[in-house]
Amino acid sequence: MNARQPHSAEPGQSLTGPVVFPASALDQLLDAVKRRGFRLIGPVVRDGAICYDDIASAADLPRGWTDDQDAASYRLRKRDDDALFGYNVGPDSWKKYLFPPHARLLPAERPPDEPYAFLGVRSCELAAIAIQDRVFLGGRHKDLHYEARREGALIVAVNCGEAGGTCFCASMDAGPCATDGFDIVLTELLGEPGHRFLAEAGTSRGAEILGEVETSPAGAEDISAAHAASENAIASMGRVMPELDLHELLAENYSHPRWDDVAARCLTCGNCTMVCPTCFCFSVEDISGLTSSETGGDAERHRSWDSCFTMDHSYLHGGPVRTSGRSRYRQWMTHKLGTWYDQFGTSGCVGCGRCITWCPAAIDITEEVAAIAAEP
Ligand code: SF4
Ligand code: SF4
Repeated sequence: MNARQPHSAEPGQSLTGPVVFPASALDQLLDAVKRRGFRLIGPVVRDGAICYDDIASAADLPRGWTDDQDAASYRLRKRDDDALFGYNVGPDSWKKYLFPPHARLLPAERPPDEPYAFLGVRSCELAAIAIQDRVFLGGRHKDLHYEARREGALIVAVNCGEAGGTCFCASMDAGPCATDGFDIVLTELLGEPGHRFLAEAGTSRGAEILGEVETSPAGAEDISAAHAASENAIASMGRVMPELDLHELLAENYSHPRWDDVAARCLTCGNCTMVCPTCFCFSVEDISGLTSSETGGDAERHRSWDSCFTMDHSYLHGGPVRTSGRSRYRQWMTHKLGTWYDQFGTSGCVGCGRCITWCPAAIDITEEVAAIAAEP
């Protein structure tokens, strides 16, 4: 298992030495971000879940809340401390800002006036953003809509101190600690000598922002508390992806009977693709004949998230090419874990566990892989 350790475990990657500041000073950091003209987005409690939304200050954060997660199950629960980031990933991912569920392409929407600042980005989510960067910006033809939203976005990451019931980032080499792709990384420490954050900058603008917070150099006890938090997160991962060549396993098992078994349970609802932070399928629709009072023009082009589980998404000339639930689930999983390597050079899964938690049929991608591997 290639679990990631706290950033401070790898000297030389940090632009500043690790510093600490009390939890009560978090607003100093948020104010320093807002003074630079960013639109601050972070975790909030909404509709019985921890979602991402605009925040004004640390008072908006889910203080004292955590979540219990398992296959097809998500519940908020009060913690017995005041942790601000003591939860795991919820149904939202940052792609709802960088690659929104619906966008008007023509006439093109204006890019956001204020660049985004994302607070509380977990290591698996940084890995997912890096994957979507490769998908939308890494080829010969950049997606200008994605680029306009991604450009300049500031990222304040938070290392995980405990993992959720469906997390398996450690076995996908995507967590639980952030090692790159952030401006600032925080580790929340709750024990003696008090509620505080260990912080490090990953970019010069992150260092500038941290410079406006009253900090003190981190002591050996802060560093070892951060390591203990990371060890706790690794030890509490609710799931594990079998350590195998998944590309080869899936390529050699297109006809495995497990595809029929999972098809009998799968509702082809597409929830797994909607919550997945790396899924990027979309459909484009031209709408003509709109009145000028509604739109200022005669026609518009819209883009919306789509899913390999919808019949229309595989429609080629003459009909859909994946008519059965078996073929649609197999397409999703073999792309995510296998052919994604052929296309983008990485796995398409970062082990966030969302597809397991939010699948109404409790289908678990790690369990499906294990079942195929057990009888290849
Ligand atoms: S695997 Fe689960 S979430 Fe995905 S389409 Fe099937 S039933 Fe829906
Ligand atoms: S496939 Fe599932 S576990 Fe993997 S990144 Fe997508 S939602 Fe997360």
